[in-house]
Amino acid sequence: MGNKVLTVCPYCGSGCQMHLLVEDGKVVGAEPADGRTNEGNLCLKGHYGWDFLNDPQILTARLRKPMIRKEGVLREVSWEEAIQFTAEKLTAIKEKYGPDAIMGTGSARGPGNEANYVMQKFMRAVIGTNNIDHCARVCHGPSVAGLTYSLGDGAMSNSIPEIEDTDLLFIFGYNAAVTHPIVARRIVRAKQKGATIIVSDPRKTESARIADTWLPLKGGTNMALVNAFGHVLIEEDLFDKEYTANYVEGFEEYKASVKKYTPEYAESITGVKANDIRKVMRQYAKSNKAMILYGMGVCQFAQAVDVVKGLASLALLTGHFGRSGVGIGPVRGQNNVQGSCDMGALPNVYPGYQSVTDPKIRKKFEKAWGVTLPEKTGYHLTEIPHLVLKEDKVKAYYIFGEDPVQSDPNAAEVRETLEKMEFVIVQDIFMNKTALHADVVLPATSWGEHEGVYSSADRGFQRIRKAIDPPGEVKPDWQIISEVATAMGYPMSYRNTEEIWDEMRALCPKFSGASYKKMEEQGGVQWPCPSEDHPGTPYLYEGNRFSTLNGKGRLFACEWRAPLEQPDQEYPLTLSTVREVGHYSVRTMTGNCRALSQLSDEPGNIQISPGDASSLGIEDGHLVSIISRRGKIVARAQISDRVKTGATYMTYHFWIGACNELTGDALDPVSKTPEYKYCAIRLEKIPDQ
Ligand code: SF4
Repeated sequence: MGNKVLTVCPYCGSGCQMHLLVEDGKVVGAEPADGRTNEGNLCLKGHYGWDFLNDPQILTARLRKPMIRKEGVLREVSWEEAIQFTAEKLTAIKEKYGPDAIMGTGSARGPGNEANYVMQKFMRAVIGTNNIDHCARVCHGPSVAGLTYSLGDGAMSNSIPEIEDTDLLFIFGYNAAVTHPIVARRIVRAKQKGATIIVSDPRKTESARIADTWLPLKGGTNMALVNAFGHVLIEEDLFDKEYTANYVEGFEEYKASVKKYTPEYAESITGVKANDIRKVMRQYAKSNKAMILYGMGVCQFAQAVDVVKGLASLALLTGHFGRSGVGIGPVRGQNNVQGSCDMGALPNVYPGYQSVTDPKIRKKFEKAWGVTLPEKTGYHLTEIPHLVLKEDKVKAYYIFGEDPVQSDPNAAEVRETLEKMEFVIVQDIFMNKTALHADVVLPATSWGEHEGVYSSADRGFQRIRKAIDPPGEVKPDWQIISEVATAMGYPMSYRNTEEIWDEMRALCPKFSGASYKKMEEQGGVQWPCPSEDHPGTPYLYEGNRFSTLNGKGRLFACEWRAPLEQPDQEYPLTLSTVREVGHYSVRTMTGNCRALSQLSDEPGNIQISPGDASSLGIEDGHLVSIISRRGKIVARAQISDRVKTGATYMTYHFWIGACNELTGDALDPVSKTPEYKYCAIRLEKIPDQ
């Protein structure tokens, strides 16, 4: 007789609840559950993304025992030996070079919030550094930085279900149909209910196809367009004067900054028609309820933080906050990237977004953890190649549930960085490209094999549950990290994830009322949830009091800057990285699912315009070489009239045809997020096809 285990899908931040169907200790299927965000629906990844858990062929590829590199080869060892070796090496490096010579990551994927809490505590309390970061750095890092500046909380101000009950959706650089299909469903429902849809995107995405107005801006011109929107709101007297006077600061500086960005000037930079810029701002300002949703098309540029602040300024100027169905939504991509930020897997904040540089907060954590904590903020993940190769400052890297060789820009430089390190630890569920450079590999349980909590993109804590026993000798991530900590002389002896969660709650005012019990009773809890009798918060800033120090929203505008690497004669096209609906992130899980791999498999595709294809003699399906200043790969050409001439697009999931061999390492100066959406390339047809 089988049973159903209620859990949360691990493939995007929509946070869809689902049942895993279990028979004889094996997962045999998945069914949608009636979750707050998905209401009985799942997309194809939710339906078919479980089969790696017990596919006999795939299971042979699972990491089952710890490994240590001996004479150049990774060899299986006992847990005792692996933990002792790891602890001794980290202790020796800490003593020789100091704690800041060690870097660690959290994981935005399967492990869950408790494992992230334990990991950041390990780096801070045991290693003695704030060098903890994770892949939010390469996606929504600009949202955390930008929205914290503008509004006080670096998260969606609204909730996913509210999307369908707004009057106007302004979708900026975000292709929900591919990244969050269940959010896309809400967008379609909003349209069916009569909402106006405006989409700003260089490519004619699925969202653009259903838009009332599509603004096909040139890649890399976001800030010029956002400034022009602000210009129109002020010039045409469309902004909410009373709201701006009472709840917002910085108006005069903002007005001066956007003055020169007339729609005509913006048209000369962005290619978007001046009349369309005026039209959509009139619609946005006059809508009773309007909501901005944005994604990687905002965040993965070297001017991303400025654009996030600029978008928040539009909502502030028009008073679109503090009610249901309004606000600004950075729709977090990975299933638990909101959670790993919530848990403080970031170099500048403890769990609950509490600053590491605030002495009062630091004292609170020192008292709770019984240690003296470091005072300065840690390194950002994307700075590590430079810190290793140029400054020789980082010697060891504890990589937990990430695959930077696949996910980070300029893959050759990442490989060189790992090779130069004295000690690399990889903790994961399968061998990945990064593990090829590891000195120790620690095998961890997967989603479906452990308990915990994920945070959905709209601040929703939800329980994940163990459905089956793990294979081999693998252990939950939090337990592995605790054992390394104990071997280094800092005993960690949690009995279960709830004990970890309760320790975290006691230290985080925003989360303190979000108990496991409340999650069971309500199905989930959206933070802030400051007390046991508080039900959680669907939308932020009720009463128009923002979470900034003085409670006011902060306006921001600045000059537009062009992307750092421009096309030239040798590299005449631009490349932007995008996603594929059937796969998730670096494909550690979906690449090992038969059903999903059959829908779309390697090598990856490169989308090019019909004009560029014709001038290069390339036909649909041809294999082409793609060359940038950093590398060369092969992929299949996919000719698409949704793509502008001069632009190309590639998904970053695939191991063969990995586009991060090509991408550049230009970073946003504040969030240190890479400019994945714009680098220069050339295409060469492979002969004789
Ligand atoms: Fe899973 Fe996201 Fe699809 Fe929901 S929308 S089923 S969370 S991949």
